Amino acid sequence: MPNTAPILMYHRVDVVSDNRNTVALEQFRRQLQFLHDNGYTTISMKALYDHLTADTALPAKPVLLTFDDGYEDNHRHVLPLLQAYRMKAIVFPVAQWVGAACGWKKNPAAERLMNWRQLQEWQAAGLEIGAHTFSHGRLSTMTDEQVAYELRQSKAVLEEQLGRPVDFLCYPYGDFDARTGQHAEQAGYKAALGIFNGTGQTQRYALPRIGVSSRTALWEYRLKVSKLWKAFVAARRLEGSVKNIFR
Ligand SMILES: [Zn+2]
Repeated sequence: MPNTAPILMYHRVDVVSDNRNTVALEQFRRQLQFLHDNGYTTISMKALYDHLTADTALPAKPVLLTFDDGYEDNHRHVLPLLQAYRMKAIVFPVAQWVGAACGWKKNPAAERLMNWRQLQEWQAAGLEIGAHTFSHGRLSTMTDEQVAYELRQSKAVLEEQLGRPVDFLCYPYGDFDARTGQHAEQAGYKAALGIFNGTGQTQRYALPRIGVSSRTALWEYRLKVSKLWKAFVAARRLEGSVKNIFR
């Protein structure tokens, strides 16, 4: 069985942290410095996919950095730091809202998303771009037709604008069900990421991720990228199922 790699989930990175999903810029810089100082190698999603499907080798201490939604601060703060550290990452923009405000949120105007030019700069820096559906809805609540549309439309729009195949998908809210992987495969995706519910280390269309939030201290970050990362996923899954029992 492939050994796989910890996959970290980020959202925003800004100068100051104004919510749980925003990692402060200095906190993020310290995390990259930690990876750099401790022999970690950031890998591409493609490298992980090749490892899972063709058993190609991964570096000794691999870690995959992922960024959901494609916030404008990812271009302003994350991109220069990744370039300075020569690190890799994948961003998952929401096709319908590229260059706009977060139309799926209650207070959309507060947060800006990268535009196509910024995404092209991200791509030109050797970093990857994946899909995060067309409108950022909950896939498990949709009809088959709606799911198929969300996955196909986002792929088509991103490929049209970026001129490159979009092979990977990330489910909004980590939400998916038994149908979703099949839809993803039919839409032409090679692999997809959830968060923890329903995921499995070698399930190509339901790969688990570990969240990094404003509250993630460096000692905890160290554990999340260590060999203990699988225990984090298991603990989060257990927590999720216990919540379901008592709901
Ligand atoms: Zn999202």
